[in-house]
Amino acid sequence: MLIVQKFGGTSVGDLKRIQNVANRVAATKKAGNDVVVVVSAMSGETNTLVGYAEYFSKNPARAEMDMLLSSGERVTASLLSIALQEMGFKAEAMTGRKAGIITDAHHTKARIEEITPKTMQNALKEGKIIVVAGFQGVNVKGDVTTLGRGGSDLSAVAIAGALKADLCEIYTDVTGIFTTDPRIEPKAKKLKRISYDEMLELASLGAKVLQNRSVELAKKLNVNLVTRSSFSDEEGTLITKEENIMEKPLVSGIALDRNQARISLMGVKDRPGIASDIFNRLADAEVNVDMIVQNKAHDGATNIDFTVPVGDLRDAKVVVDTFVQSGEIEDDSYNEDICKVSVVGVGMKSHAGVAAKAFSIMAQENININMISTSEIKVSMVIDEKYAELAVRSLHNAYELDK
Ligand code: ASP
Ligand code: MG
Repeated sequence: MLIVQKFGGTSVGDLKRIQNVANRVAATKKAGNDVVVVVSAMSGETNTLVGYAEYFSKNPARAEMDMLLSSGERVTASLLSIALQEMGFKAEAMTGRKAGIITDAHHTKARIEEITPKTMQNALKEGKIIVVAGFQGVNVKGDVTTLGRGGSDLSAVAIAGALKADLCEIYTDVTGIFTTDPRIEPKAKKLKRISYDEMLELASLGAKVLQNRSVELAKKLNVNLVTRSSFSDEEGTLITKEENIMEKPLVSGIALDRNQARISLMGVKDRPGIASDIFNRLADAEVNVDMIVQNKAHDGATNIDFTVPVGDLRDAKVVVDTFVQSGEIEDDSYNEDICKVSVVGVGMKSHAGVAAKAFSIMAQENININMISTSEIKVSMVIDEKYAELAVRSLHNAYELDK
C-alpha cells in the first residue's frame, strides 16, 4: 500500500515525540508499505514565528510571512528525515516546492492549484521514505506560499490525491471522531467509519481533528482519510465515500454548535426582491448565514429570522442597520444565547421519522425549538444555549449511540 501519514504539531511537539513519529513511520515502512509523511511545525512554533514578525511590524508583508512561517515545517521535516536515516532507512525531506505543490499567489492563504508528483514518485521508486514539509507550496513565480493556518492537513490530502495513495492518515492527539463530544456525553463512542458528508455535517465533533476544507478536498479527490492518535495504537475513524459504508446507521452522531447567534428582523417590507437584497448584502459583507426562517406576511410586512456565527454578528448588524435606516425593516433584535444541535446520519435518506423523533425528545425534555432546518442527512434545531448539554445527551441516548 501507499500510505500518506500526516503528523500535527502536538505529535511532533518535541524531539522525543519526533523520534516516536519516526518509529511509527518505520513500522509502516517495514510492514511493506510505501510511505509519504507530511508534518506540521512543532506545536506553538508557527505562533512563535508570527510573534517574531510582530516585534518588527504590525502589518508585515504577506510574502515575507510565508517565507518565515514555512520554515517551521521545514525544521520538523528535516529532523524526522534525519531520525529515519539514523535508523537505517532511506529518507528524504522535501519542501513544498520539491514535492511539486503549486499554488496560486494568495500569500498566507494560498490554494493548491496542482501537484506535480514526479519527484516524489521517483523517490518512492528508489525506496525512500519521503518527508514533506506541510502547509506550503510555491506559486508559478517560485515564491513560497502557505495554505492558511492548519493547512498541513490540506497538504497531506492533496498529496494523497496526487499520488493516488490508498490511505491518508491524519495523526493528532485524539483517537478519532466520536458520536458526540465526550466532554458532554462520556458514553460517546468512537466511530469506525463515516462518510465525507456526515463528517462535514459533524464539523463541530471533528473541529479539533480536521478542518472542513480538508474533508471537502478528500471528498473531491476521493481520498480515504483516517484520523487517529499518534500516542496510541487504537484504530481511528475512517472517513470515506458513502458506498464504502456497508452498514448505514440511521444516526451517526449528534453535533453541537455553540458558536451561533440569531438575528430577528421584524416588520420587513414584503416585496419581491427584499430577501435577495438583504442576503446578497450579507454575503458581500462575508457574513455566513446558516438557517433562515421567514414567516407569513401580515399587512404587507413579514418577519425573517436567521442565524450566523457569533464572529460575524458585528458585520451583520452593519448591514441590517442600513435596511432599518431606509425603513425597509422596522426593528431588529439579536440573541447570542442560542446553539444549534444537529442529528446527522446517512441512514436518514432511506428512513422516515428521524426528525419527528428528535422533536419528541425535545418536547419530553421541555426544550423549546426556535428554528429547524433539515437536509438529506441532517436535522438541525436551534435552541436556548442553556439546554445545549441536556439536548445532546437526550438525543444521544434516544438514538442509542452509546450501544
Ligand atoms: N503550522 C501551521 C499552523 O500552525 C500549519 C499546521 O499546523 O497545519 O497553522
Ligand atoms: Mg493542525
